Amino acid sequence: MRSEKVVSIPDNLSNMRLQPAECEKHGQFEQKVTVILNRELKGGCPECLRMANEEREAVAEAGRAYELRLSLARKLGDALIPKRFTTRTLENYQAENEGQRRALAFCRHYVKVFDEILKTGRCMVMIGKPGTGKTHLGVAMANDLLHNTSRTAVYRTVGAILQAIRATYDRYSERSEAEILASLISPDLLVLDEVGVSKEQPSDFELTTLFAIINGRYEQERPTVVISNLAADQLSPAMGERCVDRLREGGMIVVPFEWESQRGKEGF
Ligand SMILES: [Zn+2]
Repeated sequence: MRSEKVVSIPDNLSNMRLQPAECEKHGQFEQKVTVILNRELKGGCPECLRMANEEREAVAEAGRAYELRLSLARKLGDALIPKRFTTRTLENYQAENEGQRRALAFCRHYVKVFDEILKTGRCMVMIGKPGTGKTHLGVAMANDLLHNTSRTAVYRTVGAILQAIRATYDRYSERSEAEILASLISPDLLVLDEVGVSKEQPSDFELTTLFAIINGRYEQERPTVVISNLAADQLSPAMGERCVDRLREGGMIVVPFEWESQRGKEGF
């Protein structure tokens, strides 16, 4: 192997002079000519150089803007927020009673301090009667993070998750169960809706799936928002004791939705 010698150029062998030159586009300019070890290096037209730099910067900028749009599209695509929910925001939630105002305030605060929430993986449970706007607020938090921060958020119903996992058991399935679980564990926020919706005893399949998701997120210290029509004391039987323990770990926030249904009134 031949090692290359590093040659330092003595000052007296390197010198620079200016000479008049002509650019086809920009006319006359002062050309820098540097002589290094008997070689003449001639500089180009400064205006051509400036334009080339500008063009390179514009291309890079367009690339960055494209990447940003692409990553938002990817984030929104991955979030799988049902079309009818994409317009649900914290701003257009109609808080008409004290309970709703409190619930809205909790949700606003949750996304506002989300960086802090991420450090502890602090979960939120929204429980109460159907038609009280829980889904609106859950989706709104996900939408807020997706559009206003670099965070990723995913909204899913338990039913949709179970269905998607069952579909992976088909031998022609393109996705594996592990891939689906990863897509639920890796986002910064998971909004898990319709927990315990069946009212029946959950199957072992349902319980182990829920635990895999909640525990997977717990291990990564990622927060989960759980939405359920059940009463607080029914949550453990519906999700499994171990699941609820995991949710409680970082100091679970329980937001009760105790007022009467608003469905129809607000176009839910
Ligand atoms: Zn030029």
